[in-house]
Amino acid sequence: MMNASDTSPAIGVFICHCGTNIAGTVDVPRLTEYAGTLPDVVVSRDYMFMCSDVGSRLISDCIREHGLNRVVVASCSPRMHEPTFRRAVENADLNPYCLEMANIREHCSWVHVEEPARATEKAEDLVRMAIARARLLEPLDRKKLKMTPAALVIGAGIAGIQASLDIAEQGVKVYLVEREPSIGGRMAQLDKTFPTLDCSSCILTPKMMDVGNHPNIELLTYSEVVKVEGSVGNFRVTVRKKPRYVDEDKCTGCNKCAEICPVVVPSDFNRGLGPRKAIYLPFPQAVPQVYTLDDEACLGLLPLACSKCSEVCEPVAVDYDQKPVELELEVGAIVAATGYDLMPKENIGEYGYGRYEDVIDSLEFERLVSAVGPTGGKVRRPSDGKIPKEIVFIQCVGSRDPEHGVPYCSKICCMYTAKHAYIYKHAVPDGQAYVFYIDIRSGGKGYEEFVQRVVEEDTVLYLRGKVSKVYEEDGKIVVWGADTLSGRKVEIRADLVVLALATKPRKDAGDLARLLKISTGADGFFLEAHPKLSPVDTLTDGIFVAGSCQGPKDIPETVAQGSGAAARAGSLLSKDFIDIEPTISHVVDENCDGCAYCIDPCPYGALTLVEYMKKGDLKKTVEVDESICKGCGVCMATCPKAGIFVKHFKPEMLSAMVEAALE
Ligand code: FAD
Ligand code: SF4
Ligand code: SF4
Ligand code: SF4
Repeated sequence: MMNASDTSPAIGVFICHCGTNIAGTVDVPRLTEYAGTLPDVVVSRDYMFMCSDVGSRLISDCIREHGLNRVVVASCSPRMHEPTFRRAVENADLNPYCLEMANIREHCSWVHVEEPARATEKAEDLVRMAIARARLLEPLDRKKLKMTPAALVIGAGIAGIQASLDIAEQGVKVYLVEREPSIGGRMAQLDKTFPTLDCSSCILTPKMMDVGNHPNIELLTYSEVVKVEGSVGNFRVTVRKKPRYVDEDKCTGCNKCAEICPVVVPSDFNRGLGPRKAIYLPFPQAVPQVYTLDDEACLGLLPLACSKCSEVCEPVAVDYDQKPVELELEVGAIVAATGYDLMPKENIGEYGYGRYEDVIDSLEFERLVSAVGPTGGKVRRPSDGKIPKEIVFIQCVGSRDPEHGVPYCSKICCMYTAKHAYIYKHAVPDGQAYVFYIDIRSGGKGYEEFVQRVVEEDTVLYLRGKVSKVYEEDGKIVVWGADTLSGRKVEIRADLVVLALATKPRKDAGDLARLLKISTGADGFFLEAHPKLSPVDTLTDGIFVAGSCQGPKDIPETVAQGSGAAARAGSLLSKDFIDIEPTISHVVDENCDGCAYCIDPCPYGALTLVEYMKKGDLKKTVEVDESICKGCGVCMATCPKAGIFVKHFKPEMLSAMVEAALE
């Protein structure tokens, strides 16, 4: 392979039109001519789509024909096509790190579309800067690290379940970590599922059982990830397993402990609408079928105040002495599938939620109509158990409302509200259901047909408009609103009101994002690497996202993403070795005096202080863990002594660009 370090620069510049994306604003022929006049430029070419096969071949051919040892491509963001152009360079036996890109699309033509002349001048500046850096580029070699052939999936809702099963089916070991006592996530709380109305448990339970029985899946329930170190191919993860106070291997799920336990608390699984005991199974189909002792609800463990559950437990599974356990896992890839929350009660006081018992949220309604829910599937209102004869469903509660911090559409509520109205009408045929909506978003296979069926066949009354007031009077919940289609004011004296609360990121999503070193978007959901082309990757190699932790989603979309993330993780894990980028930090021994300023700021924990002997003196310096360093440059910016720099981004390369910009 041609080595560029000790020869004088022979630079080729390749300018892309990107159809009209660039050429519609920037004068590409003029830019190409300009680049050709700059020192060390041997050839300057333009082409309609430089990322195409023809464009890539043009680059490779020119490298060979003109003996180029550095290449500048002026096109889109390197995030998009740097790998494509590196391949083109490598195909002509030139080191791929002898490539520099100038982003004249996102940084120029797209943002200066109204000012073509100035955009062309700016493109000239960007190309001149790129050439200045290209002159100083050095060839670098990629290193190989052994791949750890195992995956971690965080969160065992339907997304995590699907991802785990698909990875495990590829013959790879999976650790599935779920913070609750059982897997299943929100889908386990649902009664039926739109638009086909399949029973949620009937389709979810077999998958939960498959996870529980799969030889390649190690299920870690009641557990959370507390530390993540390392990088793609070699993550070291610490998982904290909370004490259940019940031995998972001994519990037979006989329920005798719960029968005898004197403590009754609201069931979180039933969203507080029904009771559970201090020792409990969250729901009948739970996986694993192991009871959990809630130490906050129990009469007391230290000192032991009751011990009834232990007395009746025949297999001696109750163990009051259990302590949290920390497990160290080694995995090559991670899938985050931690799901969503609904907007908290306190944020939407205006609808009486949290104030009136008969104003409930949509997940509470799911539990009310579930055969294994607190009312055995009978629609009864919480305050007095009466069957509601008039019911009001309110959509977009918080969603599409910047004042509530949720400018986005929650995507699922139009559909599940139609499902709720359907279930209600079939449970209470002489009842009347009203739905307040802003507009109906039913984009999905069979979705629009389902909504139409609910409106026409089930005579659910859809009212387009916003609710202005909700208050309690004489045992009714009075709902005031306006029907913007007819222009009439509406007052409904309802027995029950159901709110379609906005879908929000998990409240600790930011903490997990920090542990994993992935980003969250402005909405707080995990951010994908590219919204169209890399929807399940993150910007951190080896970490993928699946399901509603990335944004609101229905079950089909969630399952598809779970499989997508599994396919991406699986293709990574099928390799024996992983290439690590050589663009990482490097210590300059003669400058580094071991002051250690750079160690704490390193966001990846890649630096360690080390001591060594030099000519009889004890010296200090820092050492870079090449498998961890991401080349982010924080150390380089922190070090006051030029003791550390990132290869490929040396200070002199950056200075050359600044000087070129100021020319
Ligand atoms: P979740 O179901 O939220 O699962 C995430 C899992 O991760 C949970 O088990 C959680 O405990 C766990 N977890 C979270 N944080 C951590 C952590 N830090 N560590 C470990 N584990 C963690 N969709 C349909 O297609 N049809 C329907 O009929 C339907 N009805 C719905 C009705 C209602 C009222 C609502 C609110 C939603 C409905 N949906 C429906 C949408 C459906 O709930 C979601 O598509 C689905 O649950 C998303 O699955 P998930 O795995 O991404 O997230
Ligand atoms: Fe499990 Fe013992 Fe409770 Fe039975 S009594 S469910 S075996 S903990
Ligand atoms: Fe219930 Fe705690 Fe008594 Fe067990 S020890 S029966 S969990 S109160
Ligand atoms: Fe509103 Fe429908 Fe979007 Fe839910 S899905 S936020 S109800 S538009």
